[in-house]
Amino acid sequence: MNNAVDTRDAYIIEGKMALPYSYFAGRVGSRFITAIRDQKTIRGVRCENCDTVFVPPRQTCEKCLADIRDNWVDLGDTGEIVNFTVVRYADKHLPKDPPFVLAMIKLEGADTPLVHIVDGMAPEQVTVGQRVKAVFTGKATSTLLDIDHFAPV
Ligand SMILES: [Zn+2]
Repeated sequence: MNNAVDTRDAYIIEGKMALPYSYFAGRVGSRFITAIRDQKTIRGVRCENCDTVFVPPRQTCEKCLADIRDNWVDLGDTGEIVNFTVVRYADKHLPKDPPFVLAMIKLEGADTPLVHIVDGMAPEQVTVGQRVKAVFTGKATSTLLDIDHFAPV
């Protein structure tokens, strides 16, 4: 009467985790998310010292360390794919079923890219330089997924 797993040739740790948590996006992150949710507007912050527009926004310039948390700028909802990958595996934490494209998208007026889903075209058709436009969801989630995806222009 031995129904235990034979572990002589394997290193196995049995475990169980439950990890409920709340995440606070911070004042800058919260303003970014609520502008997307409530105004369907993508906003960044601009460093006036080095003329750099960051999206997602941040409170300190990563180049010159200036405090930029209040220098908000409205960005357009279109941009260009500067890099991408195709997600080909399923995971319950991913926002879509595979395959789907995750791209770094440089919005008009921004100097840093935003990572988001590209849909509306086959993954094998996606190219660096492709112009895309944000497609907002109708249902508010208070996350970056209030932009459902970016679609080719
Ligand atoms: Zn700067």
